[in-house]
Amino acid sequence: MRAFTGEGEVATYIPELRRAAPDALGCALYTKNGICIGFGDKERMFTLQSVSKVVALALAVMDSGEDEVFGKVGMEPTGGPFYSMARLELMNRSKPLNPMINAGALTVTSMIGGRTATDKLERLLRFVRELTGNEQLTYDRAVAASELETADHNRALAYFLKGEGVINSDVEPLLDVYTKQCALSMTCCDLARIGFVFGHEGRSPETGEQIVPVPVARMVKTFMVTCGMYNESGELAIKAGIPAKSGVSGAILGSVPDGMGIGIYSPPLNEKGNSLAGVELLKRLSRHFHLSIF
Ligand code: GLN
Repeated sequence: MRAFTGEGEVATYIPELRRAAPDALGCALYTKNGICIGFGDKERMFTLQSVSKVVALALAVMDSGEDEVFGKVGMEPTGGPFYSMARLELMNRSKPLNPMINAGALTVTSMIGGRTATDKLERLLRFVRELTGNEQLTYDRAVAASELETADHNRALAYFLKGEGVINSDVEPLLDVYTKQCALSMTCCDLARIGFVFGHEGRSPETGEQIVPVPVARMVKTFMVTCGMYNESGELAIKAGIPAKSGVSGAILGSVPDGMGIGIYSPPLNEKGNSLAGVELLKRLSRHFHLSIF
């Protein structure tokens, strides 16, 4: 599998991400009896980047309600890249098409409960700690600061959406929370546990406690299938059939309904912006363990 890492490109538009090891490859499978089996660079820490969009979506719907969130963000796949701006005006009259592209994700983050940016971040950290079962979990300060400094596209998107009345909060504190959300830092096993919780109707693997309401866990997995892998979502639905979400760090979250949670990390990306080795690994895992939901 490591041979695949040589063919992709590590993301560089967030300067700190340049430092990622191009030959890193880690994978973890969180299985039914609460056991996490890891391979390769399974202890390596990485940032979630766009994988965090599914976590923020679940939390915003829990805090603000489905009607409020989907009054502002659509449910349709774009087939375009994550930074797409053009479609905002052309396709849907300023309503971002879905929560998995940046315009939608920024809007979703603005709907996480909390009065100030600090409150929202605390709320998000508490939620991710519950999802991973890791009380130490936090964000990578260097990556967050690096993204905030260079977030011109996201800043432009957020100001545009505020001008259109889609985002109601101040833009700079929102970007502060969003970049820290994207910089949430964890191992493959932490990530695999998130996949397991979403896969098991939102319940904690140890206590059975409902961390995420059942309809929210289902909705998150549906978005992962329809638009979690950007313009590679269709092909991956056919070739792997596992609800999955990628990030430019090279992270991939997989969530098999009633099955395993999957956490993959390998920084070199393919031309669609998804982890090259990660996508290949997901397809092979699906074939080997018969994981397709279709
Ligand atoms: N933090 C990144 C951004 O907003 C996430 C993008 C991604 O992972 N696709 O640009």
